[in-house]
Amino acid sequence: MKKNLFGLTLTELERELAPLPKFRAKQIAAHIYKHGMKTFDAMNDLPKNLRGELAERYEIKIADIKKQLDSSDGLTTKFLLGLADGAAVEVVLMRHDYGNSVCISSQVGCQMGCKFCASTLKGLERNLTAAEMLGEIFFVNEFLGKVVDSVVIMGTGEPLMNYDALIKMLRLAHEDYCLGMSYRKITISTCGIVPAIKKLRDEKIPVTLSISLHAPDDKLRSALMPINSAFDLKSLLAAGNDYAQSTGRRVTYEYILLGGVNDTEEHARRLAKILSGQLANVNLIPFNPVDERTFSPPTNHAVKKFFHFLNTHGIGATIRKEMGADVNAACGQLRAKTLRQRITPLKNFSTS
Ligand code: SF4
Repeated sequence: MKKNLFGLTLTELERELAPLPKFRAKQIAAHIYKHGMKTFDAMNDLPKNLRGELAERYEIKIADIKKQLDSSDGLTTKFLLGLADGAAVEVVLMRHDYGNSVCISSQVGCQMGCKFCASTLKGLERNLTAAEMLGEIFFVNEFLGKVVDSVVIMGTGEPLMNYDALIKMLRLAHEDYCLGMSYRKITISTCGIVPAIKKLRDEKIPVTLSISLHAPDDKLRSALMPINSAFDLKSLLAAGNDYAQSTGRRVTYEYILLGGVNDTEEHARRLAKILSGQLANVNLIPFNPVDERTFSPPTNHAVKKFFHFLNTHGIGATIRKEMGADVNAACGQLRAKTLRQRITPLKNFSTS
């Protein structure tokens, strides 16, 4: 079986290709990451015999497209990508007026058990590798014909439960020889793994942190999100505040509005109270129904009232713009109810 060079850092490439001189590794890294080459034959600045030798031992492979779904407004495209072992992950491209954003997955399935999320129903299958996560971004870049403007790690999975691969991917994406992506253009969304938030703070990579809160008190949050039994609101808010103070980056608290569950003025009041004084803003996400879950969406009136309450009580809040309906309702909730399905011929978008 050939070894895949995609996803290796420059140092790893140098080591892998030794005793070739280091400048060869640099050339190959540029071909892979800057020029998106998938075959060694196209690397014209390498001697022909070397290209042949490399092709015998190595491959450059990202993922194969299985499906493409386009929203009817043309702003959102969801891809199902097939990985080498047959697993599949969802990737979502969102075309905002301020640029293109890609939402990537960090795991196949998820073990966190959030009650409103469909991605956790079958538990965790496996972590994605750094190469696979980077491959999700590269796939969308290739689809667009240019580099995306921002990346959100908010698809299936809890990224901080796949910490080492996540950090490796972030550092690689940031490297000039790779995407040269600013950390400030990257958002990590977590359901609240407090020790990992502290660890992330110490990495000195100022990515934006988004914390899925979804309830203003421990009782309700524990009922919605089992992780709250391990790390309660007090410790989570302290970690969020600490992250914001250390990085200077405002933390976004995601709050999914579930009709009749957490969407009353009293909930808004308690939310404003616990976030008071934090360098934070709240992103309200009206729940979009998924077949596997029984929650209801909030009324428009409830959403507006909640939003108004926060903004008039010192908490900056936004309402997540609906894109492709429930494509991006919550981390891992990449459902595609109102998407117009289109099966794309595999050969058109194969990145292999
Ligand atoms: S919402 Fe995110 S963390 Fe929670 S179960 Fe779904 S994918 Fe996992």
